[in-house]
Amino acid sequence: MRTVEEYFGENVFNESVMKSRLPKEAYKAVKEAIDHGKRLTPEVAGVIANEMKQWAIEKGATHYTHWFQPLTGITAEKHDSFIAPQDDGKVIMHFSGKELIQGEPDASSFPSGGIRATFEARGYTAWDPTSFAFIKDGVLCIPTAFCSYNGEALDKKTPLLRSMEAINKQALRIMKIFGKDDVTSIRTTVGPEQEYFLIDKKMYDQRKDLIYTGRTLFGALPPKGQQMEDHYFGVIKPRVQAFMKDLNEELWKLGILATTEHNEVAPAQHELAPIFTTTNIAADHNQLTMEIMQKVARKHDLVCLLHEKPFEGVNGSGKHNNWSIDTDDGIHLLKPGASPHDNAQFLLFLVAVIQAVDDYQDLLRVSVATAGNDHRLGSHEAPPAIISVFLGNELTSILESIENDAPYSAAGRREMAFGVPTLPAFFSDTTDRNRTSPFAFTGNKFEFRMLGSSNSIACANIMLNAAVAESLRQYADRLEKAQDFNAELHAVLKEAIIAHKRIIFNGNGYSEEWVEEAKRRGLSNLPTTPDCLPKMLDPKNVAMLTSHKVFTEMEIRSRYEILLGNYVNIVGIEAATMLDMAQRDILPAVSGFSSDLAERALVKAQAGIDNAYEQRTASELSKLETTILDGIVKLREAYEFASGASDITEHSIRIRDCVLPAMNALRAAADKAETLTDNRRWPLPTYAQMMFGV
Ligand code: ADP
Ligand code: MG
Repeated sequence: MRTVEEYFGENVFNESVMKSRLPKEAYKAVKEAIDHGKRLTPEVAGVIANEMKQWAIEKGATHYTHWFQPLTGITAEKHDSFIAPQDDGKVIMHFSGKELIQGEPDASSFPSGGIRATFEARGYTAWDPTSFAFIKDGVLCIPTAFCSYNGEALDKKTPLLRSMEAINKQALRIMKIFGKDDVTSIRTTVGPEQEYFLIDKKMYDQRKDLIYTGRTLFGALPPKGQQMEDHYFGVIKPRVQAFMKDLNEELWKLGILATTEHNEVAPAQHELAPIFTTTNIAADHNQLTMEIMQKVARKHDLVCLLHEKPFEGVNGSGKHNNWSIDTDDGIHLLKPGASPHDNAQFLLFLVAVIQAVDDYQDLLRVSVATAGNDHRLGSHEAPPAIISVFLGNELTSILESIENDAPYSAAGRREMAFGVPTLPAFFSDTTDRNRTSPFAFTGNKFEFRMLGSSNSIACANIMLNAAVAESLRQYADRLEKAQDFNAELHAVLKEAIIAHKRIIFNGNGYSEEWVEEAKRRGLSNLPTTPDCLPKMLDPKNVAMLTSHKVFTEMEIRSRYEILLGNYVNIVGIEAATMLDMAQRDILPAVSGFSSDLAERALVKAQAGIDNAYEQRTASELSKLETTILDGIVKLREAYEFASGASDITEHSIRIRDCVLPAMNALRAAADKAETLTDNRRWPLPTYAQMMFGV
């Protein structure tokens, strides 16, 4: 048996493979491209392509694909073989530098939000050398960005790379101000914790709602849910363990640093966390992880549900985006240093994040907005839809001491240098935990917890990087001009703390009081997707995103259309699925059972036997049949009314205000009927069977 060390990363054309296989010059050039964004010449690209092809063929690959992340939310690939025909009827295996660097897939069938009309549907994919090529199912996959003929981004990678460049640029200015001239690049890092459910495939196959929408649209709650809290960190069942073992192997072969696995709070819910890495690689890896989770599950006759809310009544699934900033010489910018000088730098970055989250709350909310995630945010299990920052008591009091020019004495230290107190070295390990905060400082990183389990992490990190770049820009503008550096630094920190402390909240984010308190503080509370998406178009937000060249205005508008379009489509499919299930599965079952009961009631009456059970249940069920029938009619009407909206914004609002409530009403009646119907006659696997059936 091979050890993990032997096979880790074996399907990746990574730095060590390149180092051993490429000529020295070519390797140096690709290193420069990876580390400093230098362009590769066509000659070097040709050399790399040839070696990449050779390596892939040795591993059994026959095809290659530009692997990209269009705005559908999943990845796209179009396979081309390496074969090139020869005169003698034979083929050779061919792959050129041009094919490596650029592709021209037909873009017309990917969402563009009106960026380009179908007649000019040429799209381009461009190699991202910072994310390694890999082999998946016999295909060499080349991570690429995807854009239109005119260069507008049609994907999630392009703006993510741009946002990383924006924060790099501004953070380097800050480094210079602190005299760190050796630093040449700064990267954000991410470790996304991924939650998911596993259910038995046989049950999945019997549920149209899961098949078409990824979540259950009907289902009465089982007697036992997560009340006992016995699943979290509980013993992992053998079947799940076997799945996790396979999954880890597949991920490790792809160089994905999967490391932590455990049961989550809800029955059948689990989590996987990788060791953190550079943001764009983390984003690619997370997309791959989600894909491979689903594939491996199938091999075990399981289905992996990545939906944010597959089951009512138990926790939904999210993704915790652990985010930090590192320099190329290994300085961790969100970790307090050993000297007052380093502490000042740490505090400046810390405050930059706090300001960014406050100034661009709505963009962060937008970045996690989907129909699926609306079921989580704001219900009492996931972070609320209100964004706030958790710092813990110690850091909060340090910021207070700066705000009030008071010495910070918690650690018995009183020195003030650079206008900031000396921080105790140990405090980063002692930051308390708060599970209810949507954006928590956890020692040396921030954990953004509002992402939905199926979201691409690109979206949240684009906004986060851009917003932090903007705070850093403001600070750098001031500090570069400062006559008295210490005084100006102190002023910058103090002013930022005063202006943005309203976003700091260390209490219980799930409580009703917080909703009131947040309102008093003027924080935004945007519970649903139609509430928050229009904020994308606020002039302030457009100005920030365009000034850092993360998006053009046209790209923002197109994304707005696409995101709202997705919302409308997703709920529309759910409504249609419900109508089908209610009409063709649920009503026939309920009606069949109630008429049987009625017949039996008659037989019993004739025999002079008490028939209360049959009588009362049949009567209750037949009332519910009528309610379900009415519910179907009302849902259909609501759906048609919504479809009549004149634009996408109005459409999304009608979906939220009319269609979703009609769906809830229909479900309530059907779920009630389920509790009264003979178990053996219910046409769908029940919640209990699905959640406890693995
Ligand atoms: P918890 O569940 O306690 O929050 P986990 O161990 O499940 O912690 O996940 C923590 C995640 O944070 C891991 O993916 C880890 O690699 C990541 N992480 C740790 N340090 C950093 C950092 N500096 N930058 C980004 N992510 C980090
Ligand atoms: Mg965790």
